[in-house]
Amino acid sequence: MTAETLEALADVEAATVEVHDVHKWYGTHRVLDGIDLTVRPGEVTVILGPSGSGKSTLLRVINHLEKPEIGHVSINGELIGVKRQGDRLKELGERAILTQRGRIGFVFQNFNLFPHLTVLDNVAAAPVATGRLSRPEAQELARGLLARVGLADKTGAYPRQLSGGQQQRVAIARALALRPGVILFDEPTSALDPELVGEVLAVIKDLATSGTTLVIVTHEIGFAREIADRVVFIDGGKIVEQGPPSEVLDKPRHERTRDFLSKVL
Ligand code: ADP
Ligand code: MG
Repeated sequence: MTAETLEALADVEAATVEVHDVHKWYGTHRVLDGIDLTVRPGEVTVILGPSGSGKSTLLRVINHLEKPEIGHVSINGELIGVKRQGDRLKELGERAILTQRGRIGFVFQNFNLFPHLTVLDNVAAAPVATGRLSRPEAQELARGLLARVGLADKTGAYPRQLSGGQQQRVAIARALALRPGVILFDEPTSALDPELVGEVLAVIKDLATSGTTLVIVTHEIGFAREIADRVVFIDGGKIVEQGPPSEVLDKPRHERTRDFLSKVL
């Protein structure tokens, strides 16, 4: 294995994510209403909240897939998607945004794998497309990552030949291939049959204990209790309360949090 591939396989420095006073509207509908959130390096933050409360939008704002009308996001102090010009924020160019996005892993509810590529090439694609690795190097990296998620024997398969749990593990390996400083998960197990949820949670737990910064939207309360350093409860585009699982999940201070937990537990 080449030095570059080895380096690419090595653990990445975990990132700090800061969300500053983010407001987001769709038309007249205010979806995020002044979100402030700091996720420290290696911290695992679980975001909970009712359907429509703005959780996915918040993740998409962090990744600059959505642009906030007010506020900004920074990762390791670097503004995402924008630059300062005087006292205003100006949109970065597409290439610069893509480069930044490469440092932010995103795992979607519905896997979003490339159906026409093998499992190996799904994982190897981004490091090649961004010019970071040659194709053989990227494939070697992909083999290592697929072994890490327990899919060493599926490299030649196509996504349609895999179970949902296996597809989601490929998606996680794919997110790891760009050595992200933070990985965002948007309900990674919601589309899975119940018996497949555990294998995906086990992979996420492995990442959590290896010191990667993770932001996870999930309704899996038991899982949150097990792995979260911090639980953030969002309702109506606002953070209602946040703290360690032992507080937010076991002794919620707000009626809205209690009400939500009584419905999902
Ligand atoms: P959650 O992930 O917590 O269920 P979302 O962030 O997906 O919530 O959505 C929050 C609100 O924003 C919902 O009312 C949803 O209908 C609305 N919304 C989300 N995306 C769009 C969009 N692209 N255009 C218009 N409204 C949207
Ligand atoms: Mg959502």
